[in-house]
Amino acid sequence: MPEGPEIRRAADRISKKLVGNQIESVNIIYPPIVEYQEILGKSQVESVTTRGKAMLTRFDCGLSMYSHNQLYGRWTVNRRSTEMNWNRSLRIEFLTDKFAVRLWSATDVEIIPTSAEENHPFIAKLGPDILDDYCTPSVIYERLNSKRFRNRNAASLMLDQSFIAGLGNYLRSEILHQSGVNPSAKPRLLSDDKLQRWAEKTKTLSVLSYETAGLTVPEGVAMEGKERGEPRRSYRHSAFCRNELPCHYCGTEIVRMRVANRRLDFCPECQKTSNSD
Ligand SMILES: [Zn+2]
Repeated sequence: MPEGPEIRRAADRISKKLVGNQIESVNIIYPPIVEYQEILGKSQVESVTTRGKAMLTRFDCGLSMYSHNQLYGRWTVNRRSTEMNWNRSLRIEFLTDKFAVRLWSATDVEIIPTSAEENHPFIAKLGPDILDDYCTPSVIYERLNSKRFRNRNAASLMLDQSFIAGLGNYLRSEILHQSGVNPSAKPRLLSDDKLQRWAEKTKTLSVLSYETAGLTVPEGVAMEGKERGEPRRSYRHSAFCRNELPCHYCGTEIVRMRVANRRLDFCPECQKTSNSD
């Protein structure tokens, strides 16, 4: 499933084509929202933004489209002349004079009043968005230290969208590995230094991934992995999808475990203990 950085990049791409450009037509194909065809068909897109892994497409008629791609949803941006030959169901399309922006296969698509976005049941539960400027390492540190979250284990906290919105599976492995936090550690039992580092890495790795289209290691490190013949899914990370490869920091083999049926890759040496260091 795409995580916060991937969804924010998709929103940027869509926004570039739709905001400030004349939209010639909006075509709604998805039955649950087809009743909005008439009003949205006459509207322009004012902004495209994200909240965690959800996208909000705001129209100038006071309505917003909430969409969550889950596993199967895809956004595409193409020239209008490009034929899409694939086996996906079209949900909605936006046509400008040159481009077609389309959402495919998502099942979580709703039209809501822009003024009521914050009341949407999914959005209302979200914590601060990891890519928003106000979500600084010190905000994350405060949350790690808070009564509400300090007794939770690291592996579940990192996927809890009410803690921080936008983190997902690969970011979880990467953040915990690069901050040396054991997946079962609880914030309450960690040293202040370790919590600071955890908070810092939560922010910086998410921003790095957003800015580099998916890297969570410096470009040089990724290039070295590529030269060693590693596939992209491994060389772009320090731990995730590097199971059975040596840890960049200590050489120990990275180990894969499953938490609630989702992959978590970690270094048994660098992330040794669930206590303070
Ligand atoms: Zn290591």
